Amino acid sequence: MNIKTKFVIAVVILILLPIGFSFNFTNNIFSDHLRFIPYLDDYNDVFTSFSSSSKSFETLVNQYANNPQRYLSERFQTQIKALALSPFSIIEIWHNQTLYYTSYTTKDFNGTWLENFVFKQIPSDTNRSAYTLKQYLYTTENKDIIDVKFLVDTEKLTLAKQWFQRIFFGVYALVHLILLALLISWISTPIKRRIARLTHATTQIRKGNYYDRLTYPEKDDLSELAFSIEHLRNALKISTEKQKSLEIEKKELIANISHDLRTPITSIRGYVQGLKDGVARTDETRREYLEIIESKTYMIESLVQDLSEIVGYDKSTVKLNKQHIDLRQFLFDCVDELEKDVRKIGGQLSLHYIIKDTTVYIDPEKMMRVFINIIENAIKYRSQKPIEIVLLANRDDDGVFINISDNGIGISEADYDKIFERFYRTDKSRNLNVGGSGIGLSICKEIVEIHGGKISAYGNENNGLTISIRLPDPSTIEVR
Ligand code: ADP
Repeated sequence: MNIKTKFVIAVVILILLPIGFSFNFTNNIFSDHLRFIPYLDDYNDVFTSFSSSSKSFETLVNQYANNPQRYLSERFQTQIKALALSPFSIIEIWHNQTLYYTSYTTKDFNGTWLENFVFKQIPSDTNRSAYTLKQYLYTTENKDIIDVKFLVDTEKLTLAKQWFQRIFFGVYALVHLILLALLISWISTPIKRRIARLTHATTQIRKGNYYDRLTYPEKDDLSELAFSIEHLRNALKISTEKQKSLEIEKKELIANISHDLRTPITSIRGYVQGLKDGVARTDETRREYLEIIESKTYMIESLVQDLSEIVGYDKSTVKLNKQHIDLRQFLFDCVDELEKDVRKIGGQLSLHYIIKDTTVYIDPEKMMRVFINIIENAIKYRSQKPIEIVLLANRDDDGVFINISDNGIGISEADYDKIFERFYRTDKSRNLNVGGSGIGLSICKEIVEIHGGKISAYGNENNGLTISIRLPDPSTIEVR
C-alpha cells in the first residue's frame, strides 16, 4: 500500500473514531456496566434508568402482599440482596416509622464492577439525598405499619456522573492515544524498514559491492527510487566487470605480443650476428640470411599491426560508415589487394561470383579488413601444397554468404568456434612458427557482427579451412 493511501486511511479513522466513539462506545459498552447511563443523558428520567430494578422490586414485594408481616422476615432480606441492585438504589423496610432494614451498604456492593468502582470513589460521608421511586405501605392485623420503599440516591448519582465523565475521558483519550500510536507505527514502520533497505543497498554500492541485488517487490512511492538504485548497481557491476576483463585482456595482450615479438627479434639478432661474424661466406648464403631477416620483419610488422588494431578498436564506440556497395566489385577489390602476394609464392587466389548483381550495405573499409585478414591467414597457415584460395559468393534462403576456402593446414573440429576467441591459436599453427597473436579473427567476428552478420569456420574437402561470412540481406536492412 502506498504512503498516501495510508495517510488517507489514518485521517479518515481519526475523524470517524470520535463520532463512533461518542455514539457507540458510550451507549453500548458503558451502558452494559453502568446502568445509570440513560439517567445521565436525561437527568430527570431517573425512573427509566432504574425501571428494571424497580420492576424486580415490585414483583418481589407483590409476593407477600397478602401477608405483610413477612416483609420483616430474614428470607425477604435475603431475596432483596439477591436482586443485585445498583449501589445507587436502596430498598428500605420501615416498621412503625422506624428503619427496620436497609439494603444500603458501603461494602460488598451488588452492582456491576464499573458501578462498584465509581461508587467507591464517592466519599462515604456524602449527604444522602434519596429519591423515592416506589413505596408500599401496609397495616398488619396487629395494626403494625410496614413501609417498603425503593429509593435512588440522587446525590451520589450526581457525583458518580462526574466520576464517570472522568473515566470516560480517560478511556477516550487512552484509546485515541493507542490508536494514534498504532496508526503512526502502521505508516512509519514499513517506511523506516524500506528506507533502511534502500540505505543498505546504497551503502553497499558506496563500498564497491555491486553484487547484492536489491529486491523491492513493493509497489509504493519508493519503488521508483529502488528501481533506479538497482539499475545503477547493475550498471556499475557491468562496467566494473568490463573494466576488470579489459584489464586482464590488456595484460594477456602485452604478454602474448611481447612473447611473439621476442621470437623473431631473437632470430633477426642471430642472423645479423652471423652476417657480422662472416658466418655467411657466399653471396647466396648472405642473401638467404637477409631474406630470413626480411621475413622476420614482416612478422614483427604484422604483430605491431594487430597490436595497433586492438588498441584502437572498441566495439561499443566503433562507428560504421555504411554504404550501399556492389558486392562483386567489392570482392574483386579484396582479391586485387592480395592476388600478387599469393602469386609470388606460387599460389592462386580466385573469385567465384555466382549470384546476380547484389548490393550490400556495409562499411567497405572495415569489411575489407575482414577479408584481407582471412586471406592473409590462408597465406600464413598454408601447407606444403601450392596454395589455393577460393572466394565464393552465393545466396540461399537466409541471404548472401561469402565463403573463403583454402587448402592450408586446416584446424580440428573442436577449434571451429574457438579461433574467433581473442588470443586463441591452434597448436598446429603454433608449431608453424609464423607468429600471430590470435587477435585477427576475433576482430573480424566483431566487425561482421556489428554489421548484423555472422561468421563461422569449418573444414573443407582440401583439408583446409573455410571461413563463411553471412551478411544480412540488403533488402531487409533498414537504411539509417
Ligand atoms: P593469428 O593468425 O594472429 O594467430 P587469428 O585470430 O587470425 O590470429 O587466428 C586465430 C588462429 O586460428 C590462428 O592462430 C590459427 O591457429 C587459426 N587459423 C586462422 N586461420 C587459419 C587458416 N586459414 N588455416 C588454419 N588455421 C587458421
